[in-house]
Amino acid sequence: MSLIVQKYGGTSMGSPERIREVARRIQRFVREGHQLVVVPSAMSGETNRLLALAKELNPEPSARELDVIASTGEQVSIGLLCLALHNLGLKAKSYTGWQVRITTDDAFTKARILSIEDSNVRADLDAGHVVVVAGFQGIDAGGNITTLGRGGSDTTGVAMAAALDADECQIYTDVDGVYTADPRIVPDARRLATITFEEMLEAASLGSKVLQIRSVEFAGKYKVKLRVLSSFTDVSSTDMGTLITFEEDESMEQAIISNVAHNRDEAKITVLGVPDRPGIAFSILGPIADANIDVDMIIQNASTEGLTDFSFTVHRNEYKRAMEILQARKAAIGAKGIVGDDRIAKVSIVGIGMRTHAGIASRMFGALAQEGINIQMISTSEIKTSVVVDEKYMELAVRVLHKTFELEKDPTEERMKA
Ligand code: ADP
Ligand code: ASP
Ligand code: MG
Repeated sequence: MSLIVQKYGGTSMGSPERIREVARRIQRFVREGHQLVVVPSAMSGETNRLLALAKELNPEPSARELDVIASTGEQVSIGLLCLALHNLGLKAKSYTGWQVRITTDDAFTKARILSIEDSNVRADLDAGHVVVVAGFQGIDAGGNITTLGRGGSDTTGVAMAAALDADECQIYTDVDGVYTADPRIVPDARRLATITFEEMLEAASLGSKVLQIRSVEFAGKYKVKLRVLSSFTDVSSTDMGTLITFEEDESMEQAIISNVAHNRDEAKITVLGVPDRPGIAFSILGPIADANIDVDMIIQNASTEGLTDFSFTVHRNEYKRAMEILQARKAAIGAKGIVGDDRIAKVSIVGIGMRTHAGIASRMFGALAQEGINIQMISTSEIKTSVVVDEKYMELAVRVLHKTFELEKDPTEERMKA
């Protein structure tokens, strides 16, 4: 008997029929003798609907109240799923985040899980219940409801698995695993049987929304066995999806590049004509950090006549606020102007093979140049290269890079042929 945590995404929970299907899959695992903790998301579209409602009433909604509203989507899901499980004759009990006691910090709309009190859940499991825990939500030390950021149910799933020391965490979604690129953009993207933890972490941080980055971080920290699979296969399917691996040698079989990731959630801000002197980066980014806004890419140009331009990217949701903060401080910074662009996209190639192979980045730049795609910003790390391009070229860039690095080909098969 093993303890399995299963997380079901919004599409998987999208209708009464889908919820019945989820219940049938759970029933199969229970029949096989496993203990199950299930973490559902809100029904697809529900979180967007709730957030849009909030913004209709107040274009500048309080983050605390947004969380009160957005968290209700998952509360509906846990209740409905339990009813479907009861219909199948299974014992099942639902818990919201605060009922479990998933304690988070107080960063509303993007809170981090600090601790999980697991005694209720364990007692119910021991009593033969399927325990259904609401994804995406928690409670801070002051008793306020918090949410974990978009896609946060993944993190609830992995965090529950870590807290309970589960044998496996299964993330059920609307694709049957992690692909070499988003299969909705690249039709011949290939499913990966395994992906290394490091590559998955990069891909998630670069926008591959199949897993929320914090869920991957949790999996790494607590060595949770994590798998991505489809909830749309037959309930009896033994398809194993994609396993996130922690062993370096398993990756030896893999290509230099494992995937192309894209992200259209960022916006670029450029502070023009700032005096090039010590402390300037701090005077621009300090107030941004104080407002709890995360900065991603940063570029400072070479100065001419003592003046320089300074560009960085933030999440699109925080673009307006970041612009306002800088506009208010324009004189203090000594900037000649502040301009922004929220129609950008970031496209990245990821692969641990980049550590040992030179020239990968230049091949990437060459391929983009050939298509006439202008690169606005570049950032690199040991295992990734990212570029910012005009949003309208994003899909083209992803496809071109997928082709350039021949990701549609299975590297192990290629080796067999050689
Ligand atoms: P869920 O609602 O189940 O959490 P998400 O929409 O958050 O599902 O994540 C699944 C989606 O992630 C897929 O439908 C797919 O379009 C997208 N995606 C992006 N990059 C990848 C990738 N490399 N492999 C698989 N799916 C990806
Ligand atoms: N319902 C939340 C969202 O749409 C959390 C999730 O689905 O993971 O972002
Ligand atoms: Mg998701």
